[in-house]
Amino acid sequence: MSTKIKAIGVLTSGGDSPGMNCAIRAIVRSAISHGIKVYGIHRGFKGLINNDMEEMNASSVGNIIQRGGTVLYTSRCPEFKDKEVRVKAAQILEDRGIDALIVIGGDGSFKGAIALNEEFNFPVIGIPGTIDNDISGTNYTIGFDTAVQTATEAVDKIRDTAQANDRTFLIEVMGAQTSSIAVKVGICTGAENVLLNDKEIDYKKISSDIRRGLRRGKNSSVIIVAEGEKPGRSYEIANVLENSHEISSRVCILGHIQRGGSPTPTDRFFATVMGVSAVEALVEGKTQNATVVRDGKVMIAPLSDCSSKSDHAMKDYIGISESLSI
Ligand code: ADP
Repeated sequence: MSTKIKAIGVLTSGGDSPGMNCAIRAIVRSAISHGIKVYGIHRGFKGLINNDMEEMNASSVGNIIQRGGTVLYTSRCPEFKDKEVRVKAAQILEDRGIDALIVIGGDGSFKGAIALNEEFNFPVIGIPGTIDNDISGTNYTIGFDTAVQTATEAVDKIRDTAQANDRTFLIEVMGAQTSSIAVKVGICTGAENVLLNDKEIDYKKISSDIRRGLRRGKNSSVIIVAEGEKPGRSYEIANVLENSHEISSRVCILGHIQRGGSPTPTDRFFATVMGVSAVEALVEGKTQNATVVRDGKVMIAPLSDCSSKSDHAMKDYIGISESLSI
């Protein structure tokens, strides 16, 4: 199919997630096969407004499919919320001869892309990339599967030592505004409790669950805690359990280990298909869209579907976790 697009820019923005490199690789190679130049923009919108970018070729994305992080680097760029700064960005894109932009990031990054499109009629495509799986309009985001795998392996290891030492562990996983990682890891590790980040903690229930387990000979418990606004809330929870309920526990905060590492085959697959689909969408003349996964399939949707947070009803599965931890 012929295209009016001659050159595209690609950037990664917000939090990095394993699999972003797979999407970058797919975009670069797919664009080249359509005769389109690709500029890799460094450090998200910050690189765009600083004109920090380089033309990429098939070799620039060799041997990155298995690497976590992002070869384009990422950053937060609060100043991109100012219209004057976006005017500068649009001018840089025009001066460089870039006709369209692919933004790999979360709902915040998509808001920046939507603003560019609405103010300058500039074609943009979003690819959802965040370990939190917290973007509306898509059931999947690049990196969630790897983060869940990393956290699951870590919890399994901690379970070994908890069991050996008759201990209760509070294990805190990432998830600032949604608890998707916590719920999935809780189910996958058979955790005794999962504490969501937006629900009041029922200490009486936690302590009665632990005591019930003890009565039937269970000597260890694992409680998964969604981190909430800032890491470390598990320490406060441990204090309350100790001081008011006579339950002693150990805290382990998994932290940034969940962001890194080699992407799982699921993340590699969807990121690659999304990268190719994003380029094809631009070739077909789409101008404000996102690649999404619905019913297990990659498809193209309006970018505005994806510009808010959603936990995709993961919390509905909390009942399963509770019903099995008897
Ligand atoms: P994520 O994309 O992972 O949700 P952020 O919410 O931090 O992460 O957003 C990443 C970047 O997207 C911000 O640093 C900023 O450059 C840009 N951005 C976020 N919200 C807006 C907005 N309302 N308008 C313009 N740009 C925005």
